[in-house]
Amino acid sequence: MGETFIPLADLRYAAALPRVPAAHETRPPDGLVADRLGRPLHDLRISVTDRCNFRCSYCMPKEVFDRDYKFLPQSSLLSFEEITRLARIFVAHGVAKLRLTGGEPLLRKHVEVLIAQLATLRTPEGQPLDITLTTNGSLLTRKARALHDAGLKRITVSLDALDDAIFRRMNDVDFPVADVLAGIDAALAAGLAPLKVNMVVKRGTNDHEIVPLARHLRERYAGRVVLRFIEYMDVGATNGWRMDEVLPSAEVRNRLARHFPLEPLDPTARGETAERWRYADGSGEVGFISSVTQAFCHDCNRARLSTEGKLFMCLFASRGHDLRALLRGRRPDGQGYGDEEIAAAIGLLWGERDDRYSELRGAGQAAAGSGERRIEMHYIGG
Ligand code: SF4
Repeated sequence: MGETFIPLADLRYAAALPRVPAAHETRPPDGLVADRLGRPLHDLRISVTDRCNFRCSYCMPKEVFDRDYKFLPQSSLLSFEEITRLARIFVAHGVAKLRLTGGEPLLRKHVEVLIAQLATLRTPEGQPLDITLTTNGSLLTRKARALHDAGLKRITVSLDALDDAIFRRMNDVDFPVADVLAGIDAALAAGLAPLKVNMVVKRGTNDHEIVPLARHLRERYAGRVVLRFIEYMDVGATNGWRMDEVLPSAEVRNRLARHFPLEPLDPTARGETAERWRYADGSGEVGFISSVTQAFCHDCNRARLSTEGKLFMCLFASRGHDLRALLRGRRPDGQGYGDEEIAAAIGLLWGERDDRYSELRGAGQAAAGSGERRIEMHYIGG
């Protein structure tokens, strides 16, 4: 079955219809599939909505994502059952960690129902999956308990500043920082731990918030919250990224260490994006996610599923693979595609993967990507 370009109502990103290998060409998934660079498939990031109630300029600038912006129609979104079916297939290929993202995943109605479904899945060894979620925290006070009770174990909150005026400017919808801080309290009270806080550092915008935010989280949570600093990235095609607005993690670490001495920690798992450090006085841990200055593509074991069922192999990809067409489509004999066939198609796609955008960017091969428009972060989740 050759590659076909699907003229969907939504022409956001081209997607090929995955090839479904014939039965004699494949074997059942054994959890050991590896891509062309020998990287296993371990993490699946699932975007459950392309909508968000914030307009952070590095992800969803208001000028582009304005009142007239057409978000994906409800009918095109994968249902919770479809997401769970795909997740089950990915687990057979070795996925042990699911991260729910967006847009803002808590905007997806009844997302806790999906979490409860995903929480029933088990690895081939019978282990529960590591299910987490990344949120801007705006709805966390209301949702934390229900998320935990549905089976969510831990959570990541995006928080780019402690200063209310700077925070409101960065989310660009005048949302108060106090509500996100209250959401963090509610999440910890509900038992969502360890809790991670992600701060995207943009030179000249919020870099002077590095120490105040670290101090606040140290003093208030004494190690129960892990703060991670993320280098500002050239994701998508709308955030006007410039290298001189990137504050390298090494500089972030030096600034922090001048106030709170740090010691390096070993990674907890292969493919971990954050470089781990601990406060020398024992007050907890911090992390540095340095996609621009210290690319980590060599260990990247992450696949991304968009909210309408396209599989992307890299955060900086331009093209996807339409798994929804296999979920909802018919074979030439009129039958639906079985899980083994969809698993075979996914195995083939991962096996052909050789993405390493950040590494190539770092090597000065700026046109590392396909030259086509890269997917937007609000659509595929970070
Ligand atoms: S740039 Fe792509 S391949 Fe590299 S770490 Fe990020 S998602 Fe993985």
